Amino acid sequence: MATIYRDADVNMGVLKGRRIGVIGYGNQGRAQALNLRDSGLAPMVGNRDDEYKDRATADGFAVRPIRAVADEADVILVLIPDEVQPEVYQEQIRPSLRRGDVLCFASGYNIYYQAIVPPEGVGAIMVAPRMIGRAVRQLYQEHLGFPCLVAAENDADGRFLQVALALAKAIGATRFGAFASSFREETVIDLFAEQMLWPGIIKLCLLYFEKLVAHGCDPEIVTTELHLSGEFVEIAKAMITHGFFGQLQLHSQTSQYGQLSRADRMAPPELLAQVDRAMEEVCSGRFHAEWVQEQKAGKPNMQRLWQQVLTHPLAQSEAKLESLRKIITRPHEPS
Ligand code: NDP
Repeated sequence: MATIYRDADVNMGVLKGRRIGVIGYGNQGRAQALNLRDSGLAPMVGNRDDEYKDRATADGFAVRPIRAVADEADVILVLIPDEVQPEVYQEQIRPSLRRGDVLCFASGYNIYYQAIVPPEGVGAIMVAPRMIGRAVRQLYQEHLGFPCLVAAENDADGRFLQVALALAKAIGATRFGAFASSFREETVIDLFAEQMLWPGIIKLCLLYFEKLVAHGCDPEIVTTELHLSGEFVEIAKAMITHGFFGQLQLHSQTSQYGQLSRADRMAPPELLAQVDRAMEEVCSGRFHAEWVQEQKAGKPNMQRLWQQVLTHPLAQSEAKLESLRKIITRPHEPS
């Protein structure tokens, strides 16, 4: 069982005298900067001159260029998209780094794939919320927590991990629990879900839709059954409260028998080979290399793939149900 750190395990004193800089004011940047400030810290915000900067200014931060914040801060939270981090790091953060400085990431990606290699004496820590930015802020304001993964590299005496834990506490994560992890583990878990679990779910949902429509079912009724009804969300919520298998007991006996007796059939050897392939591509860095190439080429495959899904009959069926979707999502959607 992983070590789980909670509020009482954290020494906030390690941040005393530290100057904290938050680079980026998007999903995580805004939520974490506001939470840090409400926890009594004084984060500086670094951002380019555009609407994110305006938002930070409206929230009461004196926003400065990234380079200026990196110069002044000695704990730097890098909260811009993973794809742009290496370039921004090289040009605007790396020149300012001094021995003892700490770079904090909300994902393991760039450190694991060595797209960013901090210099000797500079700590690389990870405070990776398992939560979208909006909820990081909302849960903090509701005095609730959320899980996060923490790690530290170049950390011979454990000092940098203490900084990670103090930041995790200040953003509200250790109210729930910060799990001791690694840059590798966070990256592999995240990317394997994105490249095996979610694509599998996408493909099965499309097959479900296509097959039922081909067998004479109404596309809009199938779309409603698939996700518009919100039943999918209710099942996912029941997994939290009753457990992955426990929630099955909320279904009819017919449903339980159907699900349990057919589950193995859905994983034939060809599928298991693709599961292994996805894991190999993540762990070896093969996917990372492919994605770097795709971005350099101007994302032609990404555009083609988007085009493909947006013309799928399921997307057309959803468009017809737009007015219903608005009615049903209203009670669920946080403002
Ligand atoms: P966002 O896409 O929300 O980041 C937007 C911010 O990045 C803005 O401030 C934007 O400023 C800035 N930015 C974008 N491009 C550039 C650039 N080329 N140069 C300088 N600044 C740039 O990022 P997220 O919050 O989604 O992700 C941040 C980190 O958090 C990532 O490591 C991600 O993996 C991790 N994470 C994200 C989660 C989420 O909720 N999305 C969940 C958990 C972890 P502007 O464009 O104004 O310059």
